[in-house]
Amino acid sequence: MLVKNLYNYYSTKQQKGDVIVYDYLIVGAGLFGSTFAHEAHKRDKKCLVIDKRDHIAGNVYTEEIEGIQVHKYGAHIFHTNSKKIWDYINQFAEFNRYTNSPVANYRGEIYNLPFNMNTFNKLWGVSTPQQAKEKIEEQKKTITGSTITNLEEQAISIVGTDIYEKLIKGYTEKQWGRPANELPAFIIKRLPVRFTYDNNYFNDRYQGIPIGGYTKIIEKMLNGIDVQLNTDYFDHKEKLDRLADKVVYTGMIDQYFQYCYGRLEYRSLHFDTKILDDTDNFQGNAVVNYTDDITPFTRIIEHKHFEFGTQEHTVITEEYPKEWTVDDEPYYPINNSKNTEMYKQYKELADIEENVIFGGRLATYKYYDMHQVIGAALATIDKEFS
Ligand SMILES: Cc1cc2nc3c(=O)[nH]c(=O)nc-3n(C[C@H](O)[C@H](O)[C@H](O)COP(=O)(O)OP(=O)(O)OC[C@H]3O[C@@H](n4cnc5c(N)ncnc54)[C@H](O)[C@@H]3O)c2cc1C
Repeated sequence: MLVKNLYNYYSTKQQKGDVIVYDYLIVGAGLFGSTFAHEAHKRDKKCLVIDKRDHIAGNVYTEEIEGIQVHKYGAHIFHTNSKKIWDYINQFAEFNRYTNSPVANYRGEIYNLPFNMNTFNKLWGVSTPQQAKEKIEEQKKTITGSTITNLEEQAISIVGTDIYEKLIKGYTEKQWGRPANELPAFIIKRLPVRFTYDNNYFNDRYQGIPIGGYTKIIEKMLNGIDVQLNTDYFDHKEKLDRLADKVVYTGMIDQYFQYCYGRLEYRSLHFDTKILDDTDNFQGNAVVNYTDDITPFTRIIEHKHFEFGTQEHTVITEEYPKEWTVDDEPYYPINNSKNTEMYKQYKELADIEENVIFGGRLATYKYYDMHQVIGAALATIDKEFS
């Protein structure tokens, strides 16, 4: 149920002396908040979910445009190795057989991702795993120092110079807005390298796209639960806190504590979505990464290919990375030592905050994939109701 004028409703109720009825006020209608709300509701708890945006679903929000489910906050492919999480999400939607196989466009040359035998064959003409390994080993030798000091060295030490120059350097520098040799090595701990002809990006056992989009999943999760949109928690904190026994907070942790230790940093993105009337198939793949340093965006998403769409038109989104400012969406936490230390201080405050549960990607300052955020919400529920 969507509650439009909840404040008026409750101020009338309070004036009449009625008791406030919510067990949980859930700040954020994203995947964490919605999973928590669904599970609490199942346990007969009364929940109110609020979100400052004008829609539910947080960053997994999809919207139908020209009959196509458009991923409004970037491409979202569900993947997991956990049967428990896969069965859980399948309660709310049927998934299609989409397998993520992005391609890289380097100045018009197309390469398969993740780096695999198809990539190596196109790059070097090699056809066996042994030949590919030898080529990489030879190129890795350019790293002579005994310690890796930056991302450039880290990448070359894993995949050699050619892949680094054509498929990693430009993309990474656009993504982080800094030269690769000034970026910390930890950003690239591992790189997916495969010595088989397998273009499937994920190693997980289960993957797919929910038929009908992600928003429908969240609608089902929130079925029977009070939801109020366009409501920033901090604009009405005192009033909202009085409505429930406990708060589940999924917004930014530093904002909750009024930035008392400073601001945590993020990278942000700008999405430029276009409806193309003159073609029904723009790039032949859902995800194309632009790995050169001239193209200003990092990737183009052609949404219909997530669902094998046959519509007359197509919708594409160019993804432009950008420095985060307070007016932007905070997408990727920058987990360097300064921010990690700052987060630890906020976490100590969160641990002693009474009647507030902190969860989800913003409140724990952590990049979570969807299966991980569902797992975290279910673990929180287990703890709460144990
Ligand atoms: C570009 C991009 C691509 C991704 N692709 C994938 C993918 O392919 N596969 C995958 O598994 N995962 C992917 N993810 C990760 C996925 O988006 C997250 O796992 C998921 O959205 C996290 O859910 P959440 O509830 O923690 O956060 P969110 O979805 O951000 O939800 C938090 C909600 O809280 C609301 N909120 C915040 N502050 C307040 C406030 N003060 N008052 C009221 N409301 C507030 C926000 O508006 C938001 O709706 C991707 C993420 C990004 C950024």
